Amino acid sequence: MILLTDKIERGKLEKLKKNLEKSSIYFKEIKLCNEHLFFIPENIDKNIKKEIEDNFSNQIVTSDKEYELVSKKEFCKSLKIDFKDTSIGGNNFEIIAGPCAIESKEMAEEISGFLSSLQIKFFRGSLFKPRTSPHTFQGLGEKGIEILKVIKEKYKINIVVEPLNLENINKLMDVADLFQIGSRNMQNFSLLKEAGESKKPIILKRGMSANLKEFLLAAEHILYTGNEKVILCERGIRTFSDYSRNTLDLSIVPILKKETYLPVIVDPSHGTGRRDVIQPMVLASIVSGADGVEIEVHPHPEKALSDGPQSLSMEEFEKLHEKMKRLLSFYKTRLN
Ligand code: PEP
Ligand code: MN
Repeated sequence: MILLTDKIERGKLEKLKKNLEKSSIYFKEIKLCNEHLFFIPENIDKNIKKEIEDNFSNQIVTSDKEYELVSKKEFCKSLKIDFKDTSIGGNNFEIIAGPCAIESKEMAEEISGFLSSLQIKFFRGSLFKPRTSPHTFQGLGEKGIEILKVIKEKYKINIVVEPLNLENINKLMDVADLFQIGSRNMQNFSLLKEAGESKKPIILKRGMSANLKEFLLAAEHILYTGNEKVILCERGIRTFSDYSRNTLDLSIVPILKKETYLPVIVDPSHGTGRRDVIQPMVLASIVSGADGVEIEVHPHPEKALSDGPQSLSMEEFEKLHEKMKRLLSFYKTRLN
């Protein structure tokens, strides 16, 4: 059950909190789209529930969804998350681009310089890589933090980086503008909580076999910490298809937009694993109604230490960027 508290008398609210505490019922206060919410779980004692319903009937927001916090609300139909010089969500379309992993200062500077020359506002590049095999490149680790700091300062670009644990979160706090929670960690509930508590915006990638409910309940865990700044990312799921690394499930985009007010982005790089199909899938993401895309770019994809086959070269990215701009203006003015 959710109460909108802005119109509730302070004293009445304090009394309710005391009563809940006395009955050992946990509750949460969350700010969402400029409204203050008070969340109380559904499965509480019937008498207490009735008392709340009688006392606060005009302030109750009902939802029949298990993912109550992230489900679309009358007062919050689309959430806009603000960043340096831009925002994600609302009417904007944003591009997040960069290498799978930072490999050296030189390559990170080369890509971020190139991206900022195209007015791209978000640089992705991770230092702690959750690789399937322990024998492959695991990322530069803490050594790379200084590199991210240099890029952030020099190009005033927003930094997206993936922490794997609380120690990573603490180390990355100063440099990260957004934390990315990877597919493999979508249901790492303690990490979701810790990332949520950092108060940073979070890109939550869909688990590779997660259904809609599991995906949204993972987001619910982050919201439950009081942090509403969650961006959902479709990045492909496991199917029987043997012609691509994953199956990019673009059909989830309009469904997520219907179910929730959270911004939704698409990652066609991991979604397909194939450089030759990234372009059409990026363009299709725009038409699917996504709020942005995340694309892997590398100066020399053939030499990349991770995810080379799905990384675009800078030339390929630049060509795609031109097409995206044209499609975006057509889409916004003629189709939307
Ligand atoms: C990544 O973005 O490089 C990554 C590892 O993505 P995912 O978690 O979607 O596999
Ligand atoms: Mn990758």
